[in-house]
Amino acid sequence: MKSRSDAGDISVYVHIPFCVRKCLYCDFNSFAASEEVRGRYVSALLQEIDESGSIMAGRDIVSVYIGGGTPSLLDEAAIASILDSISRASDISGAAEITVEMNPGTVTPDKIRGYVRAGVNRASIGLQSASDKELRALGRIHVMEDFLRSYDIVKEAGIGNVNVDIMTGIPCQTEASLIKTIDSVTALYPEHISAYSLIIEEGTPFYDMGEDRLCLPGEEKTYRLYKLTQEYLSDKGYDRYEISNYARRSGARDYRCRHNLRYWERREYAGFGISAASFVGGRRYTNTSDISSYLEAPGAEHAEDRSIDEKSGMEEFMYLGLREIRGVSEEDFLNAFGRNIWDIYGEVIERHTSQGLMSCENGRIALSDRGIDVSNMVLSEYLLHSS
Ligand code: SF4
Repeated sequence: MKSRSDAGDISVYVHIPFCVRKCLYCDFNSFAASEEVRGRYVSALLQEIDESGSIMAGRDIVSVYIGGGTPSLLDEAAIASILDSISRASDISGAAEITVEMNPGTVTPDKIRGYVRAGVNRASIGLQSASDKELRALGRIHVMEDFLRSYDIVKEAGIGNVNVDIMTGIPCQTEASLIKTIDSVTALYPEHISAYSLIIEEGTPFYDMGEDRLCLPGEEKTYRLYKLTQEYLSDKGYDRYEISNYARRSGARDYRCRHNLRYWERREYAGFGISAASFVGGRRYTNTSDISSYLEAPGAEHAEDRSIDEKSGMEEFMYLGLREIRGVSEEDFLNAFGRNIWDIYGEVIERHTSQGLMSCENGRIALSDRGIDVSNMVLSEYLLHSS
């Protein structure tokens, strides 16, 4: 497997944990904070990036993703200083994809123009739903009109590559309201759409309220909403390339998110900020989730740190790579591990193929539509102790 010394390019993730207020379903490491705390956090980030040393030195940075939280709470100077420190640590390739996550209600023309001047060329906007009632139910800070204004601002600032997040399984969501959301978004023709299902996570207000009080669509209806999303987005000109991600069909340009593709393809990335994960030199590690510890010694404390041995590497190759609709390549497996994929996973691949959950064509192994519908169950069978 590749080690740091023989590795070539790298991606960078920066976590901004601040939000205006907490949404009712959110279990990310995000919270409201004063301007003073936000300023101290950005200084700590710059210190962590400046001290990253050999992790990034001499490598081409091919994508930067500033996620959160709500990174668009930061002003243009803060985003510029983060991108400056990354480019001091190593070269940001001229063709790099540089994304900032933005939430409606925190986006102004001056700010986004400043982001573009700093090098940002992709925006990911969290809409979730075009229904104000559903947005209220989720505890979001915005209404649909705010989203439309933010979308215009982003496009007018010259960002030509925009993702919009939508959600299925929202309390009281109906097929009609989902269709309205998809119609409203696709009418703008963004380059990319992510469609995630709401998951009720422990420790959130939604979890405490209980599923009955939330009026969640049942299992069958959730499945219908999920299928509807897939069919509608395909009709509107979007190709699904990963379980939850769709890129606008375009002859000339590939609008798949390059940064996320690198996660699924097990390429190296360095993460900065609290809770940020890294995969470098055959090691996966995650920064502390505690902001006080982080502000005291940025990047010094890891909540998790483990070496990826060959067995874990093979498992990751399968359960990350099979998330892509085109599946995994037999040749890539051989190149990564010096072993034939059929010698390791032949029995389980054959079983899934005979059950109609998988297909094998032209040296690629991929989940079928049915396999994607039950992907959690299928992917869990690529853990080597269970195969
Ligand atoms: S905006 Fe996103 S990160 Fe922030 S609280 Fe809501 S769901 Fe969580």
